Amino acid sequence: MIWALSGASTIASQYMIGALRAQEGGTVRWVVSGSEDHARRYAQSHDIPHSGTDLAAALEDPAVEAVYISSTNEKHHAQAMAAIAAGKHVLCEKPLALSVAEAAEMIAAARAAGVTLGVNHHLRHAGSHRAIREAIASGRLGRILSLRVFHAVHLPEHLRGWRLDNPAAGGGVIPDITVHNADTVRYLLQEDPASVIAESAVSGMGQGVEDSAMSVWSMPSGAMVFSHESFTHPHTTSGLEVHGTEGSLIARDVMAQDPKGALELITAAGRSALPFDTTSLYETAVRRFEAAARDGREASASGTDGLKSLMIALAVRDAAQSGTRQSLDYGVAS
Ligand code: NDP
Repeated sequence: MIWALSGASTIASQYMIGALRAQEGGTVRWVVSGSEDHARRYAQSHDIPHSGTDLAAALEDPAVEAVYISSTNEKHHAQAMAAIAAGKHVLCEKPLALSVAEAAEMIAAARAAGVTLGVNHHLRHAGSHRAIREAIASGRLGRILSLRVFHAVHLPEHLRGWRLDNPAAGGGVIPDITVHNADTVRYLLQEDPASVIAESAVSGMGQGVEDSAMSVWSMPSGAMVFSHESFTHPHTTSGLEVHGTEGSLIARDVMAQDPKGALELITAAGRSALPFDTTSLYETAVRRFEAAARDGREASASGTDGLKSLMIALAVRDAAQSGTRQSLDYGVAS
């Protein structure tokens, strides 16, 4: 597929340009940035033939089939709406938008235009998470009692910009990481939280935005979910635990960008390691997105998935700020 990049970002540079080019016929034809200079230098260093500051120019190029949006979060909505209006498929970074209304508008526009809208929730494309999902779906864990997500990281120096000090750009750990936890939990349990309670904190990095949060979610099945995310933890690894009536699954180092970590299943029969596929998460995500776009199907992480993960994250922030339980109504997502 032939792509334009909207946003000359770190994630595109580190993972997504490679993932787009790894597909059959995968071509990155344009990079569009707010800065002419940055766009030109980025294009040169990544061997991208066209660059500029005018998204419309890239969208007018008939060779471009799809747009990958990885600008800062406040730009996702307008850039996606423009790409959709130009008849391009859109793979958008998370959070899909800053508000529920914006995200819903993007989904409606993509449906009306007959193009595929996806959100780059990479974790549901990890072999580790697919193996956990399979263990749950096959009944090996029995009835699920609880799920705990450990996603406290140490934000690398080079990413300590808008995420830490710019609420208008969608900064804060909740739009950044809680959305990923929400999508992962929804994917693994195949249900959406009914309500959440939460606390958030500024613990050393945030300037005007939270850098840490913990929340507890009530699931319709009765399962309890705990989600912890932070930018400020230098000495821990990520993880996830699912506990059921017949077994527990302990996943270490799996809330990650690379296909790493370890899964251990614990049942009455003992402990065993679960193997999983170690294909690149981002290559898998792009492969599935392109297949959906070609077949006119919903993406494997769809606009609706992006809307729901955003709704959950916003509910966590509201619960933390208000100190009250927040109920979730997904009517707008149906
Ligand atoms: P960066 O901070 O690297 O880049 C964001 C934007 O900042 C760029 O698109 C660019 O703006 C501008 N920028 C960066 N460097 C320069 C520079 N040297 N000169 C001028 N402008 C510059 O963001 P990330 O890559 O960390 O995040 C981008 C998006 O991707 C966010 O929405 C984030 O939430 C998401 N993300 C998703 C991940 C995933 O695994 N799914 C992982 C990491 C991020 P412009 O748009 O104008 O080019």
